[in-house]
Amino acid sequence: MSQYDTLSLFIDGKMTNGDSGASSDVINPSTDVVLGRVPHAKKPELDRALASADKGFQAWRKVNSFERAKVLRKAADLMRARVDDIARVLTLEQGKPFVESKIEILAGADITDWFADEGRRAYGRIIPARADGVRNMVIMEPVGVVAGFSPWNFPVTQAVRKIAAALAAGCSIIVKCPEETPGSPLGIIRCFHDAGLPDGALNLVYGVPAEISEYLIPSPIVRKVSFTGSVPVGKHLASLAAQHMKRTTMELGGHAPVLVFNDVDVDAVAKMMVATKTRNAGQVCVSPTRFFLQDKIYDKFVAEFTSGMKATKVGDGMDADTRMGPLANPRRINAMQTLIQDAQEKGGKVQTGGKRIGNQGNFFEPTVLTDVPDTARIMNEEPFGPVAVMCRFKETDEVLEKANRLPYGLASYAFTKDGKTATKVADALDSGMVTINHFGLALPEVPFGGVKDSGYGHEGGLEGLTVYMTAKFVSQMG
Ligand code: NAD
Repeated sequence: MSQYDTLSLFIDGKMTNGDSGASSDVINPSTDVVLGRVPHAKKPELDRALASADKGFQAWRKVNSFERAKVLRKAADLMRARVDDIARVLTLEQGKPFVESKIEILAGADITDWFADEGRRAYGRIIPARADGVRNMVIMEPVGVVAGFSPWNFPVTQAVRKIAAALAAGCSIIVKCPEETPGSPLGIIRCFHDAGLPDGALNLVYGVPAEISEYLIPSPIVRKVSFTGSVPVGKHLASLAAQHMKRTTMELGGHAPVLVFNDVDVDAVAKMMVATKTRNAGQVCVSPTRFFLQDKIYDKFVAEFTSGMKATKVGDGMDADTRMGPLANPRRINAMQTLIQDAQEKGGKVQTGGKRIGNQGNFFEPTVLTDVPDTARIMNEEPFGPVAVMCRFKETDEVLEKANRLPYGLASYAFTKDGKTATKVADALDSGMVTINHFGLALPEVPFGGVKDSGYGHEGGLEGLTVYMTAKFVSQMG
């Protein structure tokens, strides 16, 4: 029996298919083969999930943080023990190379361990009082029931960042994971369940995304919303949450600039950036997209980078020599074709790639564009695919203005050997995360989040825990 025969919702500690009979296909993006069907939750299942999470919160918040940590650590150990099985499911349904899937599951385990420990250190504080015998205390309490919405590009880590942080804070959570890649999140939910999490602390639903968010967010049981996905959907959900005064974390899209200065080792940077750009076929919110190359190294960088992109082996993620899998769904193929065609119509040149590969699966060539004007759509819209745009610059101030031009502000990268330039760009880049001379984002212990249209709040780091807590002030006399 395959994992796809047992796809299910997880409500109140039990796997269930729900009563409506509604479901949707799960399709292998490498072969177009239907792997199975994922059941959908409708209002009755959502009501059960809400009641269960409400009850689960009352039980879980009373478990002390040392005991909570033990459960989370056990879940992390189970993820490590089951890494091959869950990674296989992840590659089958999402397409990324098996080795990337394994890294993702192991990262999920590390994130869970990090929050297990950090939950034990959710310290409050004592504020000096103005009168004798008074104690002013700040006590950190869990927010309550969380509704989490996680996407298909990293079906495991994007879900775990919400689940582990919420649970470590003492919250319960209903998570709606992506219908297109449901098997790997279910594998992770099983780890939490088998680790001894009380029923109701974690519920998993799938369904029609808008139906679910529009039902869960207004519910008085839900106290916090965490969404990862596109800017338009994020804005819609943030406004819905605001109408009901719900706290929110929004991890939305990006359009990362890469600033490469004249003084770098061009070969090394180009090589590193090919690997970064083609990771998960570019379907990464922090994927480098706009490459700003200083005058003297422009030609060499474009040549090196283009040759690296061309040499990237594209194929089924289960083949050992595959370096880049297919795009996760046909929508991305359409998006790539539309953006590339628009860029070409506006004068852009394709140095390599630009086309779909074959007619089975969603394979797309790693693509490099040059001579693309700022008016082209790809210079303004997140491509979310394996396309990089090369641009030329002369001066630091000029490139900073270009890098900060868009309403996105998630990740930015810079490469230079000059300390002054490094400090200047780190200060001036208007984004939630900046890394200089390497790719250093998204570790469990560092905050991950954006500014401007890329959202607000953090996942990861201490900041990723506190968004699931409220500071209660207690002043006591006597
Ligand atoms: P989309 O905007 O329809 O969906 C993005 C995600 O939001 C999906 O997981 C989807 O299930 C969910 N979603 C959509 N409408 C929703 C609603 N009303 N309520 C709750 N959840 C909802 O687009 P898509 O075609 O699935 O993805 C394409 C775009 O999404 C990309 O261009 C990229 O910008 C963005 N995206 C970003 C991330 C990220 O990590 N920030 C992840 C996946 C997708």
